[in-house]
Amino acid sequence: MRKESKKSFAARTISGVISIFKCPVCGSEMKIEDLSKLVCEENHQFDLAKQGYLHMVQQHKKTKYSKELFESRQDICQSGFYDGLIDGLHEVIYKLQNSKQPSVILDAGTGEGSHLVRLSDQLNEEVKPIGMDIAKEGIQVAARSYTQATWIVADLANIPLQPHSVDFLLNILSPANYDEFKRVMNEESNLIKVVPGEKYLEELRAQVGHDAYSNEKTVDHLSEHFTLIERKTVHYKAEINPQMFENLIKMTPLTWNTDPADLKYCERITVHLEILVCKK
Ligand SMILES: [Zn+2]
Repeated sequence: MRKESKKSFAARTISGVISIFKCPVCGSEMKIEDLSKLVCEENHQFDLAKQGYLHMVQQHKKTKYSKELFESRQDICQSGFYDGLIDGLHEVIYKLQNSKQPSVILDAGTGEGSHLVRLSDQLNEEVKPIGMDIAKEGIQVAARSYTQATWIVADLANIPLQPHSVDFLLNILSPANYDEFKRVMNEESNLIKVVPGEKYLEELRAQVGHDAYSNEKTVDHLSEHFTLIERKTVHYKAEINPQMFENLIKMTPLTWNTDPADLKYCERITVHLEILVCKK
């Protein structure tokens, strides 16, 4: 039997969530046509790329993030660097999820998709994961590696999903658009935002002369828009080999202005993050 193409496999995954899509141009409902594109009632069309992702912005916006950066990040994630974070997220969602199934999980600012996939693999089969990012380079790396989610290149300021359609909205170490987040959430939904704690990557910060990170402003801003119902701290040291160290400095904007030759390899790197669980 012929192996199913990536594109038609993705089309089937998308058909499981097609009812919650909305056209980013006119807002009407969408359907899949010929397993190759999404079309709305006004005939606006968005292609499903052969790599298996949807392109739902009208003009491609170039971001400062390269494909190489996302590949480095994917290597870091697959090496287990963020496993403590994934466990923390799993615990939070598992506890909240019992009463609501199946759950649509939208990862807004998903990058290369590893956090979303590792998390939904730990959750039950009723989860419908959707990863969205404005950076096409990230979504391409995501779609190449993972087939279990719907991948969309889209603008956070114009999320191509219907109002009240998302059960869990993840926003991990990534910018937010709280008005759009509220629109796609319902009264039962949770926003789960991950922000750095003050010791996050402190071994790298020390080497480039950065002060400790403060998330206070971010948390204050978040609290103006949402009700914070839980704060969970994730704090551990991850062991990394020299290859991973190289990937890490490619991945984090912290070290972009420093010559990699000036950075000294550290065997253990601090992961210190806060998981902020909110309701509308
Ligand atoms: Zn339309």
